[in-house]
Amino acid sequence: MAVRSISICGEATLDLHALNNEGAEGNALMTRMVDIVDQKGELHTVNAVSGDMLKHIQAEHLYQYALEHTLPLCKACQKFDANRICADEEFTKNPEFTKETPDSTILGKALQRCTLDDAEGILITSEIGKARSIARKSCVEFGWAVGIPEKTRTESYFHVKYVAEGRGKGSGTGENLGQNIFHRPASSGVYAMVLNIDPLRVGRNDITLGYAIDPAPRQARIQGLIVSVMNTFIRMNGAHRNTQLPHLVDFKGALVISTSSLPAPSLSALNPNYRQQITATCEQLNRLRCEPALTVLSFENLAEFTQHMVDLAARNDLAE
Ligand SMILES: [Zn+2]
Repeated sequence: MAVRSISICGEATLDLHALNNEGAEGNALMTRMVDIVDQKGELHTVNAVSGDMLKHIQAEHLYQYALEHTLPLCKACQKFDANRICADEEFTKNPEFTKETPDSTILGKALQRCTLDDAEGILITSEIGKARSIARKSCVEFGWAVGIPEKTRTESYFHVKYVAEGRGKGSGTGENLGQNIFHRPASSGVYAMVLNIDPLRVGRNDITLGYAIDPAPRQARIQGLIVSVMNTFIRMNGAHRNTQLPHLVDFKGALVISTSSLPAPSLSALNPNYRQQITATCEQLNRLRCEPALTVLSFENLAEFTQHMVDLAARNDLAE
């Protein structure tokens, strides 16, 4: 049975990080704060890391995996260019493409050409025979990592860049010269995280709904996608890691695997009963099928999460 959809809902304890910032006000760096509503309907303002940041981290891990396992990458993605295939002139200026070429053909060729454009999504807006706007939806979706209100705090720390010569004097010009002072935030807390992976859609043309690549390379790409999501938690990249590398203290949650058209359910750890609710929801959904189609794998720590993800990546029926 092919794996069609996967959901991961968890709570990551991260201490003293500054992974995601809004910008600076004067010499104070501001961290990202968001408003959320808990399961009782009460509003809270909490620190958060955006889904864009998490997806960027995952895409970087998939890029590294693709290089190592020689999965295809377009010319732009070989350099991890954020413009992806739109910046690959060998593709956009391919003389085979004319203004009569259907969008579905161009999308199919893009999927064959590049693992990152396939898995991470792209809006192809280049002039290819004529002006085009062809959307490729991502096969992986990240929500914000949101601080659980009563378990998250942000503080601001005072920093000075010391300069031995002329100590105590800034340049006064706003340039990074002389002795500068600044404030930088550090957040610590338990963060609720949600994400989905859609193996079913890897290599599938969004227009024709047919597969642009064969089962064997699809299997290899899905494996890469699963490993890159796992590595997102093993090494969390992001801002300010040179001096504020996050302390990942714990990671627990639930992984749901669906082998049918039933979607893997997702419930945020902002609700303290999320794991019990996910399990109970899957039990109810499984009543619709002769064979159970949804499997819930709980994990209590990073090692158990890694074990489940490695087991998943090792399955040989991911693309069947
Ligand atoms: Zn690409």
